[in-house]
Amino acid sequence: MADYDFDVLVIGAGPGGYVAAIRAAQLGLKTGCVESRETLGGTCLNVGCIPSKAMLHASELYDEAASGKLAKLGIKAQVELDLDTMHGQRRDAVKGLTGGIEFLFKKNKIEWLKGHAAFTGKDTVQVGDRTVRAKNIVIATGSSVTPLPGVTIDQKVVVDSTGALELPKVPGHMVVIGGGVIGLELGSVWKRLGAKVTVVEFLDQLLPGMDGEVRKEAAKIFKKQGLELKLATKVTGVTVNGDKATLTIEPAAGGTPETLEADAVLVSIGRKPNTEGLALDKAGLATNQRGQVEIDHDFRTSVPGIWAIGDVAPGPMLAHKAEDEGIAVAENIAGQTGIVNHDVIPSVVYTMPEIAGVGLTEEAAKERGEVKVGKFPMLANSRAKTNHEPDGFVKVIADAKTDRVLGVWIIASVAGTMIAQAAQAMEFGATSEDIAYTCHAHPTHSEAVKEAAMAVTGKPIHI
Ligand SMILES: Cc1cc2nc3c(=O)[nH]c(=O)nc-3n(C[C@H](O)[C@H](O)[C@H](O)COP(=O)(O)OP(=O)(O)OC[C@H]3O[C@@H](n4cnc5c(N)ncnc54)[C@H](O)[C@@H]3O)c2cc1C
Repeated sequence: MADYDFDVLVIGAGPGGYVAAIRAAQLGLKTGCVESRETLGGTCLNVGCIPSKAMLHASELYDEAASGKLAKLGIKAQVELDLDTMHGQRRDAVKGLTGGIEFLFKKNKIEWLKGHAAFTGKDTVQVGDRTVRAKNIVIATGSSVTPLPGVTIDQKVVVDSTGALELPKVPGHMVVIGGGVIGLELGSVWKRLGAKVTVVEFLDQLLPGMDGEVRKEAAKIFKKQGLELKLATKVTGVTVNGDKATLTIEPAAGGTPETLEADAVLVSIGRKPNTEGLALDKAGLATNQRGQVEIDHDFRTSVPGIWAIGDVAPGPMLAHKAEDEGIAVAENIAGQTGIVNHDVIPSVVYTMPEIAGVGLTEEAAKERGEVKVGKFPMLANSRAKTNHEPDGFVKVIADAKTDRVLGVWIIASVAGTMIAQAAQAMEFGATSEDIAYTCHAHPTHSEAVKEAAMAVTGKPIHI
């Protein structure tokens, strides 16, 4: 240890990096973490998962009151939007949670090196005017917004997800470029607060990567909610004049262009790994074609002693994937066996209803062999029906021969919570019968998971 400043130096304090640092410290390793932001917690806590959920939650309550949904339950309210207070509670949530990570760093005696890290060698990193040497270095630098060529993000009229969280007033018309998770979540926020929202998506369906039936049903639900969807459409240009933008769009397959006028344009076409300024070459590393740092099953890069996790490494760009990899990499560094089962990583869209999935889509499962599928509509679930939340379904996909569950897809108000039991069941190698014969509390939305599992063998009770 003599010449090393740290056993483990983590670069980046997002959910991957800060979790890796805490676990490494818990395992008795001398740990430092470099973070260039003013606060810990990375994209997720500062400008991602947490602030978006703060706005989703508040806008959902506003919408319930303003649209008369509460009145139908016998709750009459005079409703007025106070956007400043709504933004204030978002900032409070971020402050509380990022401060919480700082507390955990102190508690676990993790040194926070404030500044930008750049490699100067295989085991040395420069942070400001300090050079530190570490036995193990974990690259957890995360990702940032993918720009749309030719479109300048001014964070006023043309915004990325960070700007879209901070809009000082409700835009009259917001155009969202990209019908993925982030665009739909933030588009939903501003729709609920009163904006007209148009989503322009290059592909012919929303939510790439999700189960085909789920994507179709989601589009129907969003349309019913008043989101205008322009699928199979590409944006060819955005010009800003004062506080307005004009977009030119045309069918993805080619055809007659048209224009859209907007008060706000959200560019949400994806995210790219952060490696700029990291001087990976000084460590003997290069990125792959997608800009990611390649790793093996244990999160080792091609250079001994350098590891990578989270959004900067291959796999879904999700906070919980980064966190689990953070725990596993620290355990591997400490000589234990850290494993993440990348076949069972749930993903959730936090709209209303929520959309969640884990494992294979029906399309992918069918490519591998014969499957049995059980579906159960939320309309037939007593709790969802009683709560006036009839939209959606649960779909369980099982191997036709072994009955092993291969994938579960859910559209339901609390799908993000319901998907946890599916992930756990799959982690334990469950069959659809295992889920079907597990006692589920009544009345809960989760009973729909049980019924969908029963439907795999054709025997649900309530339809
Ligand atoms: C609007 C939005 C909503 C989202 N919602 C969800 C959600 O609901 N659920 C979910 O699972 N995921 C969500 N995500 C994705 C999630 O935020 C990321 O998957 C997650 O943050 C990745 O964690 P990470 O640790 O790999 O990297 P990050 O969280 O990106 O953290 C990396 C950190 O490294 C720092 N850094 C980078 N380079 C350097 C350097 N050279 N030196 C020092 N510091 C450096 C950065 O400043 C950053 O703080 C959302 C993302 C966005 C943008």
